[in-house]
Amino acid sequence: WDDAFQLILEENLYESQINTWFRPIQPIAIRDDALILGVSREFVLNHLKKNNNNYKNLIRRVVKEAGGRDLDIQFVLTADGEGRAMPAENAAESLSHLNPKYTFDSFVVGQSNQFAHAASLAVAENPIEAHANPLFIYGGVGLGKTHLMHAIGHFMHRNDPNKRILYVTSEQFTNEFIASIQTNRNEEFRRKYRSQDLLLIDDIQFIADKESTMDEFFHTFNELHARDKQIVLTSDKPPKDIQKLEQRLISRFAWGLVVDIQAPDLETRIAILRNKAESDGFDVPDEVINYIATHVKSNIRELEGALSRVTAYSKLTTGVITEETAATVLKDIYENNRPVAITVERIKDVVCEKYQLTVEQMDSKKRSRPLAYPRQIAMYLTRELTDMSLPKIGQEFGGRDHSTVIHACDKIKDDMEKDTNLYVTIESLKETIKGN
Ligand code: ADP
Ligand code: MG
Repeated sequence: WDDAFQLILEENLYESQINTWFRPIQPIAIRDDALILGVSREFVLNHLKKNNNNYKNLIRRVVKEAGGRDLDIQFVLTADGEGRAMPAENAAESLSHLNPKYTFDSFVVGQSNQFAHAASLAVAENPIEAHANPLFIYGGVGLGKTHLMHAIGHFMHRNDPNKRILYVTSEQFTNEFIASIQTNRNEEFRRKYRSQDLLLIDDIQFIADKESTMDEFFHTFNELHARDKQIVLTSDKPPKDIQKLEQRLISRFAWGLVVDIQAPDLETRIAILRNKAESDGFDVPDEVINYIATHVKSNIRELEGALSRVTAYSKLTTGVITEETAATVLKDIYENNRPVAITVERIKDVVCEKYQLTVEQMDSKKRSRPLAYPRQIAMYLTRELTDMSLPKIGQEFGGRDHSTVIHACDKIKDDMEKDTNLYVTIESLKETIKGN
C-alpha cells in the first residue's frame, strides 16, 4: 500500500473505515487478471465482499489509477484468522448479558445508521485511537442502538477475551446501586463498575431524574475515563435534550463522540428484511419483502415483527409466502395498532393546534377570516376522513347548516387545486390526524 493508494482512499472514505477495512488487507498475489488480497478476519472479509459496500469496486478503481492495470479483485481468508481463541471461562460471564445475535455481521448498514455503525466499529476495534470516549449513540426506538452496543461488546471480546466487558441498562445500574447502599455493599458495587475495560450503559436517559444515581455514575464515568477505559452510552435523545440530566454529565458526554441513528430508508429496510429472512432460513419472495418494507416504516423491531408474523402465518396455512398473505397479516396489525381513532374532536384539535385557535373559537358563530378559514378546513377534513353526514358535521361545528358545510368543502377543494401550499398543508394535517 503506497501513499498514492492511501490518498485516494482518504478522498473516498472516513478514516475509521480505512483503518477498519483497509489496513488489515495484505496483498497476496496477482493471478491471471486477478489481484488476490488476504485478510485474517472473517468478519472483515465478509464486509469487504458485500456488494452494497462497493469496496471491491473502489479498490479496483484505486488499483487501476495507481498501477494502470484493471484487475479483478478477490479476497481470501488468511491462515492466522482461523481457530481464533474461544471465549475464556472468566470472560464468559461478561458476555452473558450480550445477545449473541447482535453482532456487526448481522447489522445492515444503510444511510440512516452508517455513521453510528462506523463509530461503533472504530471504538470496538481500537477504543483509544477512536477518540470517542464516551461514544454516545442516540435515536428513536427500535433503530439498532442496543444492537450496535452489543456488537461492540462481542467484537472487543473476540479481539481480546481477557477484556472486562459489562453491559447494563441504566435501570439495572440504578437498581444495583440502590441495592448496594441498602445492603452496605457500595464498595463492591464501585469496584465492579470501575474495573471494567468496556462499560456499556443502555438507555442512559432513565437516570436523569435520579440524583444520587447520577452522582454515582458521574464518579464511575470519571474514573473509567481517566484510565482510558471505554464507555458507550445510548439514549433516545442527544445529551442536551435529556430533561433533568445534570449539566456536568451533559458536558462530559460531549467529550467524546455523539452520533445519531435515523429511521431506515426503503433500501435499508429491504436489506434488513432480506438478511433476516435468510438468517431465519425462510425463502421470502421479493414482492413480499418489498410489500413489508413499504408498509412498515418507522422502526426496525416492527419490521422484523411483521416479517415473523407473515412467515408464521404462512407456515400455519398454505406454507407459501405470498404478497397476499403479507397483506392479510399486516392489515390485522394495522387495525389493531391504529394509533388514534379519527373523530371530529381529533380533527378539530389538530387544526386548532395548527392555526393556534381554541376549539371554542372554532365552534363559535364568529365569521372573521382567521377563524372561518381553519373552520372550513376542519369541516372539509371531517367530510374526507369520517363518514359523518353533512347535517351532522354542521351540527358538530357550532350548529351550522348543511349548506355551509357543502360550501366549505367546495371552497377548500377549489383552493387546494389553485394553491399547492394549501394542498401540502392539508395533506400534512391529514397525516397528523391519522397519527402517522
Ligand atoms: P434500539 O435499541 O435502538 O431500540 P435495537 O437495537 O433493540 O433498537 O433494535 C431493534 C431490532 O432491530 C433488533 O432485533 C435489532 O437486531 C434489529 N436491527 C436494528 N437495526 C438493525 C440493522 N441495521 N440491521 C439488522 N438488524 C437491525
Ligand atoms: Mg435499545
